[in-house]
Amino acid sequence: MTQKYDVIVVGAGPAGSMAAMKAAEGGAKTLILERYKLPRFKLCGGGVANWVVRKLNIPEYILERQYKVLSFFTPPNYERHDINLGGLGYFGVYRDAFDYALTKIALDNGAELKENKYVDHVIKQEGYVKGVTTKDGEKYEADVVIACDGALSTVAKSCGMWDAWFKSKGETWKDQMCFCVGVEVKLGEKVITERFGDSYMIFTGRDIAPMGYAWIFPKRDNVSVGLGSMAKTLEKKPTYYMNHFMKKHSVASNLLAGGEEVLMRGAWIPLRNAYKPSYDSGNIVCW
Ligand SMILES: Cc1cc2nc3c(=O)[nH]c(=O)nc-3n(C[C@H](O)[C@H](O)[C@H](O)COP(=O)(O)OP(=O)(O)OC[C@H]3O[C@@H](n4cnc5c(N)ncnc54)[C@H](O)[C@@H]3O)c2cc1C
Repeated sequence: MTQKYDVIVVGAGPAGSMAAMKAAEGGAKTLILERYKLPRFKLCGGGVANWVVRKLNIPEYILERQYKVLSFFTPPNYERHDINLGGLGYFGVYRDAFDYALTKIALDNGAELKENKYVDHVIKQEGYVKGVTTKDGEKYEADVVIACDGALSTVAKSCGMWDAWFKSKGETWKDQMCFCVGVEVKLGEKVITERFGDSYMIFTGRDIAPMGYAWIFPKRDNVSVGLGSMAKTLEKKPTYYMNHFMKKHSVASNLLAGGEEVLMRGAWIPLRNAYKPSYDSGNIVCW
């Protein structure tokens, strides 16, 4: 049986939850379709501006750490340059908990959520997007579909925007995306406080991440280490750069010494402002 809504939002990340919150707040019958059961893992540095935390009343237990200083390390000698962030600074979060808190705000505003629903296609009629189908064979209709399904958006592909962004310009999607590797390193709260204080760190340099940068976001017990580069500029495997950064870099290797790697994942970030048009008849893509 087809189910009918005013607005369907695909994806319960920050973009999806905020789009659903606004649509539901405005009175639209709004449905979020999310492929995973929430809260779900999301690779991220997890740095969030304090105005976001205050504006959305993010509960304190989600705030893993508060940063007052951004420390830059630049080649050739990787001297440290500290920038005082002022005010409440920045916060470090884990995205499973943070994103779920945003989804709950959308639900409190009247949006509906269906989990474990992988949207595989849009339904198009006479050139208009009229809804979506899911992998388990369900059909959902709506006046507007908002695609918040992340960097490799299935909705953008299904409605034809993906080809308009890349193929029609003679490019591939990898020409316009940054590839990231993220590692969680367990160090324990005491060591983290001694080594990092209230700083989070950014490192630049061709040998670290060509056309990109590396970061260390300390949390309570772990630190989130990552690096990202324009995919086409990577001369070696991303894991090579990560291992080099963590084990051989003069500053990072000392900061991470004795840590236990508990997770390593990769993810894409769409970088350039090349994704136009970002809307179509009955469809908006949020990136
Ligand atoms: C390694 C890394 C580090 C980063 N660090 C930071 C940082 O420190 N601070 C910061 O502000 N930003 C950071 N970012 C960027 C940030 O993660 C993104 O800007 C943000 O996640 C985008 O939110 P979104 O809601 O558009 O997409 P996402 O957060 O990717 O959410 C998309 C959602 O859609 C769901 N979905 C996907 N496909 C489907 C489908 N077919 N059907 C149904 N559901 C689907 C996914 O499960 C997911 O829940 C980082 C990104 C990466 C990769």
